[in-house]
Amino acid sequence: MNQHIHCLVNDCHYWSQGNLCKANEILVASDQFGDVQPDRVDAKMAKQLSPTPAGGSCMATCCKTYVSKGSAETDADRITRMS
Ligand code: SF4
Repeated sequence: MNQHIHCLVNDCHYWSQGNLCKANEILVASDQFGDVQPDRVDAKMAKQLSPTPAGGSCMATCCKTYVSKGSAETDADRITRMS
């Protein structure tokens, strides 16, 4: 399977040329969830997390895997950046 996640958020550690996400997995959740959960809560824990509805608006969703380039927290969630 050859899947791509396209993303325009170029200050993210996982962003790559061509607007591609190079994270080996990501977690998308509601903004409300993203606001209160620490960085270590991410895709690795997805199976044990409860779904988070977004009230019918894409504006209320976020990429929980986002971490800014150069951040000391890039390994907090154990997500891998692919080459
Ligand atoms: S982790 Fe999320 S914000 Fe970062 S490049 Fe991938 S999709 Fe975009």
